[in-house]
Amino acid sequence: MALNVAIVGSGPAGYYTAEGLIKQFGNTVCIDIIDRLPTPFGLIRAGVAPDHQSIKAVARRFEEQHGHPGVRFIGNVELGRDIAVADLTGFYDAVVIATGAPRDRPLGIEGEGQKGVLGAAQFVAWYNAHPDYAWLEPDLDTACVAVIGNGNVAIDVARVLVKSPDEMASSDLARHAAARIHASPIRTVNVFGRRGPLEVSFTPKELGELGHLQQAQALADPAQMPPEGAEDALDPGQRKVVGHIRGFAAASAQPDRRSIRFHFFARPVQILGDGQVRGVRFERTRIEDGKAVGTGAFFDMPCGLVVGCIGYRTAPIPGVPYDERLGRFANDEGRISDGLYCVGWARRGPTGTIGTNRPDGFWMAERIAKEVMPSGKRGPAGLDERLRASHLPVVTFEGWKAIEAAEAARARPGAPREKFAQVEDMLGVAQDR
Ligand code: NAP
Repeated sequence: MALNVAIVGSGPAGYYTAEGLIKQFGNTVCIDIIDRLPTPFGLIRAGVAPDHQSIKAVARRFEEQHGHPGVRFIGNVELGRDIAVADLTGFYDAVVIATGAPRDRPLGIEGEGQKGVLGAAQFVAWYNAHPDYAWLEPDLDTACVAVIGNGNVAIDVARVLVKSPDEMASSDLARHAAARIHASPIRTVNVFGRRGPLEVSFTPKELGELGHLQQAQALADPAQMPPEGAEDALDPGQRKVVGHIRGFAAASAQPDRRSIRFHFFARPVQILGDGQVRGVRFERTRIEDGKAVGTGAFFDMPCGLVVGCIGYRTAPIPGVPYDERLGRFANDEGRISDGLYCVGWARRGPTGTIGTNRPDGFWMAERIAKEVMPSGKRGPAGLDERLRASHLPVVTFEGWKAIEAAEAARARPGAPREKFAQVEDMLGVAQDR
């Protein structure tokens, strides 16, 4: 008897769990990978920056899982909307939620609700043609943008805003976003960290890329640099990061170029504006025991757009216990309840790179192998019957391949694809198959 597993969410955590299950069970497992979108791959498609195509290549490895006779992709089916958790746990021996963390952590400061204040989950999804935010139309008619946060998402956002059309030519930046970004008068993207250069969460490769942009330069304030050698106690990666920041601080500003300016020791306390953002008020901080502590000194920085890049939250699902404080499902090392598990960002919160999900997914598969036995539940047949009764247009793996081919066919010259940004358009192509 085969083990029946449903994985909800087809991003890296979901696909690495599928790969781990195949390693554990060989041909004695059936895996349905369910996604609310007609397209698979989650963050690979809609989170990874459009100019980082080599990272997106991991999708090929995920597709290989469909060579297994028991693995299916079931797109356009949303857990909690189209099917209940109790239905899935009734059909499958194990249900693994791998829905990531698609919502923004709010800044939690006065004035945040004004026009022109966005979170990275919205902004990144917009330029990556995610159907949830394709409508966003952010107003980029400004010379100055404030990006809040010192992690890799902040770097992605800053870089995409200042790269030239030529530099983005081989990317899959959505057409609607390219039109707006490349027509924008943005001159300066100010990136704010509430701590200092020794405490940033950037990784060296991503930060170093900012030193090689065609029409923009990265700058930092020499007065905010730590004393020479302060980074010696850090790990080699962080030392490289600090080295890059020192390089930015040593560069002299070239007025004919755009800039990404790093500002440290600055904690946002208020969004300024009259309904439309006009600036951000920051409190100057100092570091005590590794933490940012306010000094009581404030300064204002004008801008016409704020993008908060301070982390994400998992979206709750009816029937699944949720930890409000941590912004993810309440779980005990991945176990939510008998037969119900979570993995990836839905389990541990929004940390780690794509590759971090590999050991996480494999570990989840091992845990399932230890704890769950095939029980004769109906598995895929039960789901199929339910979906047929609901007349939902379900997208299969073949349907996805049709979408992928259509997106490649409509790409501008040199680009890998022009993504559909509307679910209806995706369904139209998939249903033709
Ligand atoms: P992150 O690395 O956790 O960085 C979040 C940043 O937000 C930190 O600098 C944090 O400062 C700051 N922050 C948090 N709350 C704040 C607040 N209330 N006010 C001001 N600043 C605040 O998160 P991320 O950039 O969203 O990235 C998520 C994960 O995806 C990371 O593991 C990242 O490496 C990964 N990622 C990787 C790539 C890549 O490899 N190319 C690209 C994008 C993302 P504190 O440190 O002071 O808390």
